[in-house]
Amino acid sequence: MAQLPKGHPSYSVVHEFCQSDVLEHWKLCCDRGELLDGLKRHFRVWVPLVFGNSHDSAKEEHLAEKYLFRPMTEFMCGGNPEEVFSQLKNVDTPSQICGHVFKPGEPTYSCRDCANDPTCVFCIDCFQNSSHKQHRYRMNTSGGNGYCDCGDTEAWKVEPFCSLHSSSMEQNDQVNPVDLLPVDLANRASALFLASLQYAIDLLMWKQCVQLPGGLDPEETVPDIHHCMLFNDEVHSYDQVITTLQRAVDCSQREAIDYATIVDREGRSIVKSGTEQECEKAKEIIERNTSRHNSKPLKVLVMHNVVVAHQSFALKLIQWLQNIISKSDGLRRLFCLLSMNAPPKKDLCDAMEIDDVDAPASLMERVLLADTQLWKVVRVKIHQLLMAGALMDQECKKLFAGMFTKHYATLMKEFIQDDHYRSVSVTSISVQIFTVPTLARWLITEYNLLHVILQSFLTACKQKKDKDGRLCFDRNDRSPSFKRASYMLYDIKYALLARPVDPEDWSDALRTNFLNGVVSLLELLRVMQGMDGVTRQTGQHLEFEPEWEGAFNLQLKLEDTLVLFTRWCSMDKVVLIEAYKETLEALYHSYETSKKEKGKCEVAGHTTKSMKYDVSNQPISIHLPLTRFLAALHLHLEKFDLTFHSPELMTKKRLDPVDLLEPPLRAQVMIAQTQAGMWRRNGFALLNQIFFYHNVRCRGEMYDRDILMLQIVASLLNPNDFIVHLLNKFNLLHWAKPEYDIPGGQEDSVRQTVMLAEEFLNLLIILLEERYIPGVGSVTQQDVIKREIVHQLCIMPMAHSELAKGLPVDPNSETGMEDVVNEVAEFKKPSSTGKGKYDLKPEYYKMYCPYFYHYTKAEQSKSEEAQRKRKKQAGESQALPPPVPPPLTSQFAAIVNILHCDVMFHIFKMVLTRTAAQRSRSWSEAQFERILYIIGIALHEQKRAFKEGNTSYDFLTKAMKEDGLLSKLQCLVGNQNLNQDPSRDLLAWSLKQFAEVCTLKSEPVCLETLHSLASCTDQKTETERKRKAEMAAKRRARVMAQISKMQRNFIAENSELFDQTSTELKTVTSDMDLGVMVPPTFPVALGPHRSQANVTGPIQATCILCQEEQEISCSGKAMVLAAFVQRSTVLSQSRGKMLDKKDDYDPLFVPVDLFTGTHVSSCGHVMHHDCWQRYFDNVMNKERRRPLRFRQSFSYDIDKMEYLCPLCEGLSNTVIPIVPSLPSLYPAGNKKEVDLRFDDWLDGIEKTVQNSIKEAQDKESEDDFSLFQPCPISTITRMMAESVAKNFQLLWEYVYDDASGHFSEGMREMLKKFARDVYAFGLSVEPDDESPRVSILAWSTCAFTIQSVEQNLRGEGKSLFGSIPTRQADLIGSLVRFAAVCSQVMNPDMVKQNCVRLLSALIPCDSEKVNKGSPCLLDLDMFHFLTIVTMTLPSLYVDQQHCIVNTLPTGDLNNQHAMQLVVTAHIVQILLTFAWDTEESMDVESDSEGEALLKIYLQLQKTAGLTPEKVPSPYQLLQYVRSAVMPFLRCAAILYFHITGVSPPDELHDHFCTKEYEVLCRYLSLPVNMSELFESVGDITTALIKSWCSSKSLRDRLSANSEKIVRYPIVKNDLVPLPVDYSELINKVSTFTCPKSKDSDDSRAPTMCLVCGQMLCSQSYCCQKDLEGSSVGAATEHAYFCGAGTGVFLRVRDCQILLLAGKTKGCFLAPPYLDNYGETDQGLRRGNPLHLCEERYSHLKKLWFTHAIPETIAHNLEFNSSFTTIEWQNL
Ligand SMILES: [Zn+2]
Ligand SMILES: [Zn+2]
Ligand SMILES: [Zn+2]
Ligand SMILES: [Zn+2]
Ligand SMILES: [Zn+2]
Ligand SMILES: [Zn+2]
Ligand SMILES: [Zn+2]
Repeated sequence: MAQLPKGHPSYSVVHEFCQSDVLEHWKLCCDRGELLDGLKRHFRVWVPLVFGNSHDSAKEEHLAEKYLFRPMTEFMCGGNPEEVFSQLKNVDTPSQICGHVFKPGEPTYSCRDCANDPTCVFCIDCFQNSSHKQHRYRMNTSGGNGYCDCGDTEAWKVEPFCSLHSSSMEQNDQVNPVDLLPVDLANRASALFLASLQYAIDLLMWKQCVQLPGGLDPEETVPDIHHCMLFNDEVHSYDQVITTLQRAVDCSQREAIDYATIVDREGRSIVKSGTEQECEKAKEIIERNTSRHNSKPLKVLVMHNVVVAHQSFALKLIQWLQNIISKSDGLRRLFCLLSMNAPPKKDLCDAMEIDDVDAPASLMERVLLADTQLWKVVRVKIHQLLMAGALMDQECKKLFAGMFTKHYATLMKEFIQDDHYRSVSVTSISVQIFTVPTLARWLITEYNLLHVILQSFLTACKQKKDKDGRLCFDRNDRSPSFKRASYMLYDIKYALLARPVDPEDWSDALRTNFLNGVVSLLELLRVMQGMDGVTRQTGQHLEFEPEWEGAFNLQLKLEDTLVLFTRWCSMDKVVLIEAYKETLEALYHSYETSKKEKGKCEVAGHTTKSMKYDVSNQPISIHLPLTRFLAALHLHLEKFDLTFHSPELMTKKRLDPVDLLEPPLRAQVMIAQTQAGMWRRNGFALLNQIFFYHNVRCRGEMYDRDILMLQIVASLLNPNDFIVHLLNKFNLLHWAKPEYDIPGGQEDSVRQTVMLAEEFLNLLIILLEERYIPGVGSVTQQDVIKREIVHQLCIMPMAHSELAKGLPVDPNSETGMEDVVNEVAEFKKPSSTGKGKYDLKPEYYKMYCPYFYHYTKAEQSKSEEAQRKRKKQAGESQALPPPVPPPLTSQFAAIVNILHCDVMFHIFKMVLTRTAAQRSRSWSEAQFERILYIIGIALHEQKRAFKEGNTSYDFLTKAMKEDGLLSKLQCLVGNQNLNQDPSRDLLAWSLKQFAEVCTLKSEPVCLETLHSLASCTDQKTETERKRKAEMAAKRRARVMAQISKMQRNFIAENSELFDQTSTELKTVTSDMDLGVMVPPTFPVALGPHRSQANVTGPIQATCILCQEEQEISCSGKAMVLAAFVQRSTVLSQSRGKMLDKKDDYDPLFVPVDLFTGTHVSSCGHVMHHDCWQRYFDNVMNKERRRPLRFRQSFSYDIDKMEYLCPLCEGLSNTVIPIVPSLPSLYPAGNKKEVDLRFDDWLDGIEKTVQNSIKEAQDKESEDDFSLFQPCPISTITRMMAESVAKNFQLLWEYVYDDASGHFSEGMREMLKKFARDVYAFGLSVEPDDESPRVSILAWSTCAFTIQSVEQNLRGEGKSLFGSIPTRQADLIGSLVRFAAVCSQVMNPDMVKQNCVRLLSALIPCDSEKVNKGSPCLLDLDMFHFLTIVTMTLPSLYVDQQHCIVNTLPTGDLNNQHAMQLVVTAHIVQILLTFAWDTEESMDVESDSEGEALLKIYLQLQKTAGLTPEKVPSPYQLLQYVRSAVMPFLRCAAILYFHITGVSPPDELHDHFCTKEYEVLCRYLSLPVNMSELFESVGDITTALIKSWCSSKSLRDRLSANSEKIVRYPIVKNDLVPLPVDYSELINKVSTFTCPKSKDSDDSRAPTMCLVCGQMLCSQSYCCQKDLEGSSVGAATEHAYFCGAGTGVFLRVRDCQILLLAGKTKGCFLAPPYLDNYGETDQGLRRGNPLHLCEERYSHLKKLWFTHAIPETIAHNLEFNSSFTTIEWQNL
């Protein structure tokens, strides 16, 4: 609520409150029957005090409880409420119904095996405790209305109870729970319920803004505060409201967003408070601003504070009532009955201030009817009250249902005019009522429910009718009212879901009212019959595409209803008869208008009268729901021994079969003509209609029914007549004349005729063969599904969801597929992460019909091709003959007579004659194949007839007649016209069939047939031989193709390898082959005894841009690697810690928690630096020239210097210069024997550091960096013993004029560029070449990248050197060498300063003042330290006068000592932070190394002032130290390998190296026994160690209350663990509320950060934040803090992964959750149970850990255009 403006007076508590007085007064009023007055007297004082003072919500709640609710509760109870309620609870029968009311987003579960309909759901608790967990269930998220159906015996077929709600007690329905209430309590409760509900309703419906209803006016004058109240509508956009508010009430954008959010969520919000004038002014501005463009302005009211206060209270009162009635069944029943009973008329009329005697009878009715006048949050609360009240009590539910149905028409009318979503309309409660089978049946019987709903819908349809009374939709009509009206179609479906199965269920009243419903339905179907008729365009194309979607949307929504009406009709003979007659009559009337003349038609001497109607120039509609409804009913006639001609079905006004045939036949012909290209000018609207007509979602009640109607008519008519009717409508009468074939006439129309003839034959096949409909053929529903599946899988193997998509669903949204699919197909488990697929079992291929009527043309040819290919590979005949069709039911049996009627035989012979003819203009192979196919069906039928002894069907005799069919077929064997294998094979198959049928009949002619068959196959064998040769050749070709494909795959799979050979670095064998001298000894990388480097030859690389080869050198043209630099928090041990002060951050002392780092990755592609520069400049210019909105690339951001690698399109933002191997850079013969003990070296270093600082102090400089001015080496050596001094000096022997270190200008430029980029990207700062931090970043990025690679290898359990990909090894090598030489292009003074400053962190200094910047030892990351010290130490004493110096790290004694220093410090860190929690005291035999370590451990702890609680065993300690130091050693080995080029020992290539620790120590020339680092090392070292432990900063750090200390070994970070069951996540987010909302509102897009696990309210205005000057969504903001701009999220409701990088880029990925079929369910559309796929999740984890998120996003943006339109920053 908005704050009251300052300076306004507020109410003060001047009233004494005495609860007992109040209760006393109420009691008196109550006894007099005037409780409402009593309450009002109390409310008028206290409500403004509590709700009119703009308290914060907690205080308001507290006050409301104290002054208002508590007194009411106590009044009702007449004692302590808690005690009274618990007594009441005791007499309740434990509820059997869970009734948990769902919040939006909460998971719901439905059992697909046991739910009566899909709206029956369990809450998660009930589901987890039910047996349905083991069934096939569906998971979903609730829209926020509805409740758990657990315990409702009508919702579930079996096991309606979960174990929580199963009650052993018999529920006694006879007991009225009200009778169990104490009488006085019941009296008070009645009075209170009525009065408070009355008050609440009065106030919530109150229309006046300043005045209050009578009796509520405050006694004294109240402060004159007004509020400007803004109401919700669905017309104005969020943005419009926000901009308007900013202007109107002068608030910030943030505040405006908050107001808009409240308005959207609650329906209204105060946006300004003040004087009436102020508010009026604001109102005026808002209305003016929002009424532009003729739109209705936003609704704004200026309301008095007192009115608002009472309304706020009234709303709370509703909630209070809901709470009270949940306390006891008795109270609930009492409340419901009272609210639904008519109160004395007088009260009510007074209250409403009307004297209309027709006022609604009860309070409940008032609420129902007022629904659309209330604002959102009030509606929601009232609906919740309804659900917790009337709907929870079986008795009241019935009463309520009756009341609801009574007002249904009114409620729907108001809903249609309303502008709120359905979910906040009271009409959405219909699902709770109509889906209860007994209630629905009762409502139909008593309230004529079906008629009521349908008539309401028909009323809404009125405005959509055209002049002929048909429905007609207008594309330009944007009004949503019809869409809203369509919700009624769901209601009718709900009401019909459960059909009466038992004959007992049918009463006469139910029959009558159901038939009333049928009549209303027919009325609706009649206005749909003939919708959107189309006429063929012949001249020009249609100018406008006609509207077609409206009709199909209606059809789709009606689909289930039609199925359900038919089902009901099929259950009762009386009903079926009446419905059938009504339908016939309705058809008759709809037909009258379009009756046409008939004309004579003649084919082969057969004459019939047929309707004159030319499809090609008269209007045709494919909306024929009346005809189809009749067809659907017709299927059930046989069950009740009825036929079309039964006397029971006779009505005066009915159509002949021929007339019934007409409309569906016209539709078929129109589609055939479209296939033949005759309707091309009718545009896409027609094609779309035809597409949906056949589509799986519509065909059940469209196409399938039309075919059925044709079959019905075929079974009723004389077969000759039937075919002639067809030919006539297809306009093929002339084609059917033999003379048509004589050449002449227009060739163009011949082609059309041929195609139409093919379509005609196709239709015949369908009518004869499609019998998989229960009622047409003797099949079960399961046979039908099986056949659908078989045909789907004949196209190709399919995943579960693909297959399901191709199958029709029943009104319960089930395909029924699971029941049968395993019988016909085999599920091949997914290969690792892919989808699993269903493969058809071989024995089911014989069910394949190439003319299957549900195939699209594309599917047909695809399946045919697949089947032919399969047969060919198996060496079988390629014929695809008709399978044996199932027998027809007796009702349809007559259809087969088509097969042997005269006209059919005429067509057979005609086509065969044309096939044999030398030249025929109207023959086509397709006609021939279809004829053979029909003959095949005829032969199948003949076999069946023989078996059944049916002599009336005699195809064979007719076919065997002289010059009959058979001989014509025989003549065709070997005919030149048949040059395709499939038709030859089909011919052979037909002849064989003939032979078989003949044998069955033992006809004498059969011998002849067999003979000819033999000759046919003889001829076949010859072609067979030829074909076999061909096939062998083809097979060879195939094998070759396979091999080359395998090669290609191999290359693709091993692209790294091949890339490497083609474009990457390669060593050229050097002349001076030093490689031969591979030392047989163990390789050592450090110290005077280090091994020889083995890469010595120069390296060649090919530029990917100009393809030229180039030797890598310092002096030549520089070569660069494309690279991507990003700031990273992946390794952070302090998630959420921020790089706050980017400009002051000192990167030299990298903290051990690695909270931020700079990571470099590379695709490994090499270019000349100038080639790259040209390419890069080109990209930038091209993009910059484009206007912003036409920017092509979304995948890279040129403002961030991003580009794509020209070869692999990998995301890059810089290049790394390639430096040749370091050993090749230092002068030969540099290796002098130096002998200097560690202690002496340390002495020299300490002196240097101390002296450097001292000198700096003299300068009195303020600058941190210049405080460290390294002193010359001579100063130090002067302080040393002579022999020591000499050797110390030798360590820094500089060669001042050696040319080997020369870098070319290009090289220097690239070195500088990369350093600059790393600095700028790594710290997110502006580039600055002068900053001393530039070089530090260069070194630490090298260290960080190595650490990240090491951790990744460790996490995957891989060896250090064995499995690192070449391009990564190249990258690290380049980084290390870059880090080593970058000091060459830096100011040497800065390098020296950094070195001294770094060392000062470990060297105790006299002056604390200088060391203010250096951190505690425990907080230092030692590997970063090692890297920087290694790179800078050689420069320590460099003379700045000479700039060409050799300052490369070489792995010499100097480096070795530095390594020892760092390792010693690291071991101290490890020992001081040791905290072990494992209790295992697996004491192994005493271990001397462990003993020594233990001694050191205790010593260190003591020095640091710690007393360990428990002392570890020596063995434990040793194991711990080794494992803790290992990551450091591994990183050091990588670093030194690239510095020195000494190949690591073979063991480090081994995945299961058991001696890794030892091997690493030796390679790094460290003692394997670490205790040696502490024992007898010299006094200086010992003193240094002691000084570390005793330092103040360290002791402070270890003290108990200091912040978290990182311990070793450092644990590899990972994405958060996810639950195995996805519903756990849904459940978790259902309790998540928007963190910004005061009343804990739900979040619409709860999104989980997978890095830290935090839940966010994403993609929502409420949680938008300002980030660097622009407004961003919660996820973007979080990624900025959590992942340095990179984020990995799980959007829980959508079940998808969201990746974000920067503010502008992102993409969605499939979630790591799979169903049992190995498929993901992005968007949770299918609802199958989902389980975590570890493999997929690991993949995601790896993406994140290897810093591949930006790259992945770039890649996805490049290839998925839909991602480019998403505004990722708003997520
Ligand atoms: Zn439940
Ligand atoms: Zn339950
Ligand atoms: Zn179940
Ligand atoms: Zn080049
Ligand atoms: Zn590349
Ligand atoms: Zn939010
Ligand atoms: Zn996070």
